[in-house]
Amino acid sequence: MFESLSDKLSGIFDKLTRRGALSEADVAEALREVRRALLDADVALDVARAFSEKAQERAVGANIVKSISPGQMVIKIVNDVLVETLGETAEPISLDANPPVAIMMVGLQGAGKTTTTAKIAKRLKEREKKRVLMASLDVKRPAAQEQLAVLGRQVGVDTLPIMGGQTPVQIARRAMESARKEGYDVVLLDTAGRTHIDEPLMQEMVDIKSYASPHEILLVADALTGQDAVNLAKNFDQRVGVTGIVLTRMDGDGRGGAALSMRFVTGKPIKLIATGEKMDALDEFSPKRIADRILGMGDIVALVEKAAAAIDQQEAMRAAERMAKGKFDLQDLSDQLGMAEKMGGLGGMMSLLPGVAKMKDQLASAKMDDKSIKRMRGIIFSMTPKERRNPDILKASRKKRIAAGAGVKVEEVNKLLKQHRTMSDVMKAMGGMKRGGGGMMGKA
Ligand code: GDP
Repeated sequence: MFESLSDKLSGIFDKLTRRGALSEADVAEALREVRRALLDADVALDVARAFSEKAQERAVGANIVKSISPGQMVIKIVNDVLVETLGETAEPISLDANPPVAIMMVGLQGAGKTTTTAKIAKRLKEREKKRVLMASLDVKRPAAQEQLAVLGRQVGVDTLPIMGGQTPVQIARRAMESARKEGYDVVLLDTAGRTHIDEPLMQEMVDIKSYASPHEILLVADALTGQDAVNLAKNFDQRVGVTGIVLTRMDGDGRGGAALSMRFVTGKPIKLIATGEKMDALDEFSPKRIADRILGMGDIVALVEKAAAAIDQQEAMRAAERMAKGKFDLQDLSDQLGMAEKMGGLGGMMSLLPGVAKMKDQLASAKMDDKSIKRMRGIIFSMTPKERRNPDILKASRKKRIAAGAGVKVEEVNKLLKQHRTMSDVMKAMGGMKRGGGGMMGKA
């Protein structure tokens, strides 16, 4: 699973990391390619669109960190948005209720419901040390109950003795009663499937649910069916209510669209993934691990995280030092604007940076609001590191290139440079004052 998506993304990232400077247009193009790759992987249109919009927004607002290349930054952003799309954190099965805790398994025939039920039972027994009882409520398929009993013996978990002539609700009642009497912690109810969703099936699920009040209702869906699995989940959730999803056949060579869209479209967490027919082939769904598997960029992600943490600490110190020396280039401006954004807009920055507070009026008269901060940073983002350090080298042709990269007019670039000059003059004056006034900050 995810192989072809993974290949495409690594091609896109290769191109990005090979270049030193990136313009906003380069990033936008890369993110368009990411979106195409997601669509090719059968990711739902809404999801792919939201994905690239979010990533684009973050790339423009991203802090430019010296030890990290813009390409690496974009990779980190794609990684973060991917993790968020997948649901951020792993969500295990909850047993947080009075025993016996009922877990109801629902899904279409052949999705892997019975197999998954036995796998979960084994897991709860071995890892959580729970006493588990399984019951098959499938009275349509004669072999279904026997199949669960065979799996039960295989994993060493009890199954409810088979009794003919009972309805699914009657079997559920018998299961809950025996569990109560015999002190089981968890009851897994394996319901009947159909080849497709129909009203009698849904009604049967609703009846079982209202009798057993399951703490979890897990939809088992075949990952190889892509968007069908997502639509199925939506339907089941609307009619029966679902607390989590188990995606099976993640060992197959599907494109991964179901796994990638499920959370976003249904709002329900993927709790587990099944990766084979063996009873141990069941894993927690970890968004971070899946993102790493798809992107194969764990090293870069860790690198950027480490750098970002260090930068956060150093940034304020360094900014203060440079300002004291009367130095304030475009990189500094971008850093400050980045900090301002992080601290919740200009208001936040004003109160935190003593020097800048004095410029409040100037900034206000320059109409610098949060939107223009984004635009300013977009312009600086389109410059090479050298240009950021030496704004003086910015002549007409460079300005034209930067403007095109940031998707603004050349006048906007000029305006930014003028704003920077004004701020820089103020910084210099303040730095000079400090140098003159106190020996401590003296020599640079
Ligand atoms: P049910 O009708 O939903 O109960 O489906 P079953 O549990 O009977 O599974 C149908 C088939 O799919 C069986 O042959 C299982 O061994 C197989 N199966 C279940 N889960 C997986 C999985 O994660 N990967 C693979 N490759 N096969 C699976």
